[in-house]
Amino acid sequence: MNYNTNNLSIKVENLERRFGNFTAVNKISFSVRRGEIFGLLGANGAGKTTTLRMLCGLLAPTSGTALIDNTDVARQPEKVRFKIGYMSQRFSLYEDLTVWENFRFYGGVYGMSAKDIRKKFEDLSQRLNFGEQADRLTRDLPLGWKQKLAFMVAAFHNPPVIFLDEPTSGVDPMVRRQFWDLIYESALAGTTIIVTTHYLDEAMYCDRLAIMAEGSIKAYGTPAGVLDEFKAVNMQEVFLKIAGKEALLQ
Ligand code: ATP
Repeated sequence: MNYNTNNLSIKVENLERRFGNFTAVNKISFSVRRGEIFGLLGANGAGKTTTLRMLCGLLAPTSGTALIDNTDVARQPEKVRFKIGYMSQRFSLYEDLTVWENFRFYGGVYGMSAKDIRKKFEDLSQRLNFGEQADRLTRDLPLGWKQKLAFMVAAFHNPPVIFLDEPTSGVDPMVRRQFWDLIYESALAGTTIIVTTHYLDEAMYCDRLAIMAEGSIKAYGTPAGVLDEFKAVNMQEVFLKIAGKEALLQ
């Protein structure tokens, strides 16, 4: 597929990360357009989190480049920090702060004024109907609410790119569906979303995806394109074929 490079939000080329002799991410390349929902899939240990951490500027690559909005993440991590929101795999809000205090804290970290934080929080809590939770301690909320709020905090400063690391892990199917509605809403408003998941049904919700195994990208494209390439009826089958190939190579 040919992409207009002006419309590219993320461009990754030969990105590699080694830990000692172990290669966690093996020279991967992919690109993501503005407003696209891009899925990174793979079994535990495939290299998804390591990739996300390099894209966010939290971990230096061993070699290769990652550009966000044409800015090299490894060279200018500070510049990139304001362009992105990151929801880490482990719950990223402070459990001992209230919901409102979490928003106030993160809004401040991302340079929003106190007035903007207050106004945006009020709009958001009314629109999404969580005003009653505002003064509750975060640790007392159900997991589904925590995950939705963590997403809203990651999106609060209106970053053009949001990274979500296994955001729906452990939450029930109904909340997973609601969570994906939030993702769609953001993408429709033009935000680029990179999401990792190990739920194979969620692969079908992405505009395009990359499936990783042992640090490499084994499949890349639209969900329908990947199914077609692997002559598979569902993602489960694609995964089995990828795992099968690995087994044959060993
Ligand atoms: P998971 O869903 O379990 O997080 P993942 O696909 O995100 O899986 P990574 O967390 O990126 O996988 O890990 C890829 C590999 O790199 C794993 O084998 C992991 O043990 C290894 N690894 C990750 N971070 C380090 C580190 N700091 N030092 C050594 N090895 C690491």
